Amino acid sequence: MATIFTKIIRGEIPCYKIAENEMHIAFLDINPVAEGHTLVVPKKEVDYLFDLPDPLLSSTMLFAKKVALALDKALKPDRTGVVLDGREVPHAHVHLVPIYSDSQSVSLGKKIEISRERMQEIAKIVSAEVEL
Ligand code: 5GP
Repeated sequence: MATIFTKIIRGEIPCYKIAENEMHIAFLDINPVAEGHTLVVPKKEVDYLFDLPDPLLSSTMLFAKKVALALDKALKPDRTGVVLDGREVPHAHVHLVPIYSDSQSVSLGKKIEISRERMQEIAKIVSAEVEL
């Protein structure tokens, strides 16, 4: 069965899209831990990130870099952190978590509430800064 991320990639489930190319997609995490929390996903359906073929792992990280720099420009966090977990959705992905203060925990633990309007606005201003 297709993963939830494959359904997003196919357009069967909506997302707040940040960027996309032939091999990768980035969209806002639906349960964010910070404003701009983004998932970077290779379109190829592989469960474990470190099972990706080297070229795809590399290109996924380079795609993540472009998205992280766009998050930095648009949202002006101190920097953007990276979390790798992958135990909830069995489709390799990288979490990009903008860090706004020293006291912010960069983990997937504590979710925050963000309105649909703000999610739409974040997707719009961040995607405008992505340079593919
Ligand atoms: P992990 O597998 O790395 O533990 O976490 C998967 C992440 O995917 C979670 O942070 C969760 O909020 C996110 N997620 C799960 N389902 C959806 C979905 O349908 N849309 C989006 N945008 N994110 C999702």
